[in-house]
Amino acid sequence: MRELWIPGIEEVDARRSVQEELHERASAAAREVFGPRVFIRGVIEVSNFCRENCHYCGMRRSNRQIERYRAAFDSLAELVLQDLPASITDINIQAGEDPVAAREIVVPLVELLSRSTTLGTSVCLGTLDIGLTRQLMTAGASVYIIKFETADPAIYTRLEAPGSLGERLAHIQWLASEGWSVSSGFIAGLPGQDSKDAVANLRLAASLPLGGCSVSPFIPGEATPLASSEGCELDLALNCMAALRLMRPGWVIPAVSALNIAGPGVGYRRGIRAGANLCTINLTPGSLRDEYLLYKRGRQIMTEEAVLSAIDAEGLSPAPTRLSEHYARTVFEPPSVKGA
Ligand code: SF4
Repeated sequence: MRELWIPGIEEVDARRSVQEELHERASAAAREVFGPRVFIRGVIEVSNFCRENCHYCGMRRSNRQIERYRAAFDSLAELVLQDLPASITDINIQAGEDPVAAREIVVPLVELLSRSTTLGTSVCLGTLDIGLTRQLMTAGASVYIIKFETADPAIYTRLEAPGSLGERLAHIQWLASEGWSVSSGFIAGLPGQDSKDAVANLRLAASLPLGGCSVSPFIPGEATPLASSEGCELDLALNCMAALRLMRPGWVIPAVSALNIAGPGVGYRRGIRAGANLCTINLTPGSLRDEYLLYKRGRQIMTEEAVLSAIDAEGLSPAPTRLSEHYARTVFEPPSVKGA
């Protein structure tokens, strides 16, 4: 069993030259595994209905200030069959936890993608029942994205994240046992959390059967119970990303668009420099996008042009390999933790 290096407070709190060196090592680790390539996927946000009530999310069921939508299958079918940027190898289909949309829109959309394109498909749809989850796999999806959000069970419950943390982790294990490639993620800098919590998040990620993990900087969402809280410092999110990369060099680690909210104009590119190897082009039709309100209106939309110019500026180019193929080759090694 391979000994797994686990980052500590020094990495999470690194600043100035120590931070620079940390990010350089993370970037070198990513390039060693992936070369000068970054995976590019498209995301389609099919529904903003959600039966959950997470305090950090604008789409929580108690928010009456957004207009709810479910996209029409026909317009999405037209979108994926005609208008995709050439750099995209995979589509991520995302929604609030909305079993109706999953059943009526996502399953047929995944079937269509499998039948008519060579694109890989991932889904990010929350905790669905066994039958519906299996239908998605039968339709052709192979990657399930499901975040654990925080390693602290009390904070998880206080923030009304879905179910309990224990149930979420059990669901991740179940998805992996069903043959899904699983990617998870956590929120950095939630109110009341400190560097020790960030290390706990990294440790929990390391213990799970994942092929990838995201770090989302906490952004206080409009019309949420956390609207007046402090947002996450960009450096903390970037250090967590770099630490993840060094801990798991072969993982898929996205540069999330919220990095540009935590660090306007610089966050996204610094994320790529801290070891991210996945960029996402937003394909959601413009008429719906504003209501997919994870944080606040006017979020920065990563268009094809914005993504390609960011990776080009970092000396990188789009990977020709499908993300789903890369995930399928990732073997989970349970960690024997060094320095735990
Ligand atoms: S984070 Fe996901 S599950 Fe929670 S309220 Fe938002 S869309 Fe729903």
